[in-house]
Amino acid sequence: MILRKAKGLHIDGRKQMSKESPLHEHLNPQFVYIPLLQQTSALKRTVEVGDDIKIGQVVALREGFGAMPIHASISGKVTAIKKVWHCSGKMVEAIEIANDNQQRMADSIMPEADVTHFTREELIEKMKQAGLSGLGGAGFPTYVKYQTKSSIDVVIINAVECEPYLTCDYMLLNEYPEKLLKGLHYFMRAASAKRGVVCFKSYNKHIRESLQPLLQKYEGIELREIKDIYPAGWEKYIVQQVTGKTYEGLPAEAGAIVDNSATAMVFADVVEKNIPLISRVITITGEGISKPRNYYVPLGTPVKELIELSGGYINGLVHEKAWYIAGGPMTGRAILIDDLIVSDTLGAVIVKPMPDEKMHPECLGCGKCADVCPVFLTPTEIRRAYESKDVDAIKNLNAQKCMACGLCSYICPSHIEITDFVGKAKDLLRKGA
Ligand code: SF4
Ligand code: SF4
Repeated sequence: MILRKAKGLHIDGRKQMSKESPLHEHLNPQFVYIPLLQQTSALKRTVEVGDDIKIGQVVALREGFGAMPIHASISGKVTAIKKVWHCSGKMVEAIEIANDNQQRMADSIMPEADVTHFTREELIEKMKQAGLSGLGGAGFPTYVKYQTKSSIDVVIINAVECEPYLTCDYMLLNEYPEKLLKGLHYFMRAASAKRGVVCFKSYNKHIRESLQPLLQKYEGIELREIKDIYPAGWEKYIVQQVTGKTYEGLPAEAGAIVDNSATAMVFADVVEKNIPLISRVITITGEGISKPRNYYVPLGTPVKELIELSGGYINGLVHEKAWYIAGGPMTGRAILIDDLIVSDTLGAVIVKPMPDEKMHPECLGCGKCADVCPVFLTPTEIRRAYESKDVDAIKNLNAQKCMACGLCSYICPSHIEITDFVGKAKDLLRKGA
């Protein structure tokens, strides 16, 4: 089986730079911008310019697949509908809300007196009404996973956070360890699963130290250390480590559901306090930032504000010489400017000075990209097949198995974005062109 032999690479984590400062709260930006886009779905706006808004009020609806409401993250007034930069790399329409700094809550936000009576169906409905989506980067509507007809043996929490630079999940977990176990416990009830497993990187001993003493309160939950290699956070790898099974489509085929640790923590607040998804932690880091750190912010907060709070750019770095990445350096997206907003799928913004050295765009034929590929692809051959539009060759080279981990680009001595070529080959295969 391909996964049994899956490779991985130990890479320089660069995580320490944003771990040294404690988690900062920035709860009152002057404006937030709620994007009218979730994954690839355009949202239907339910508010108008001039409307008075409370925290947790529904402001937009996702319709069709994954239908669910989207909520305001601050209280105030809708002042405009305008386009903003989104981590997808596009400008999207967004609802601008001016903060009244009064933190007025919607009536729906209230603590539950008793959470023991909720049925599986009620917990899934709570996920939906809270607009809960995966905070690990995919933004998939969480309730859809729990509506599976498959029998689920285990809910796995992915706290591996294997991308370099990113520490947002680690910092949140470090601050609120019990919230993670509560969220997992509710997820297990929503899946009728008897087992819950929290997976984390082996070097994060601190996670074990903070969770272990709390486990006796939560039946069926165990901890699992995962090797310090990239891409150990890959869903298929984690599912195989925990269940010993592989799958083609969804983890439910192996009797598992996987959720990111930050998503589980939001779910604890959804169940106990009826607080929908309105905030997240984001890492602002990189060699171009004066004080790299993590921020707990309302969704829709402008990233620029967080960069300013981080002391701005290092001395002498100007916008034209900076290189921005939305997300992790392996799977994130290079963006042109720092003028984007925090959304559910944006876990980090990395700022680096552009490399001065001359690039060598020619392939050296060194084979390193094939050596590191965890699913044994030959990226250079896939690139060649793509450039000659040879769909049969792309298929025979198994390009569809690429999981976009970014390792081939990372290792390439010529700095060729070979991952992009493999991605384009996959697109070509899908279209059957
Ligand atoms: S991005 Fe795709 S081709 Fe490149 S190493 Fe990862 S799985 Fe292999
Ligand atoms: S790692 Fe880069 S230079 Fe080496 S074979 Fe792959 S694409 Fe060519």
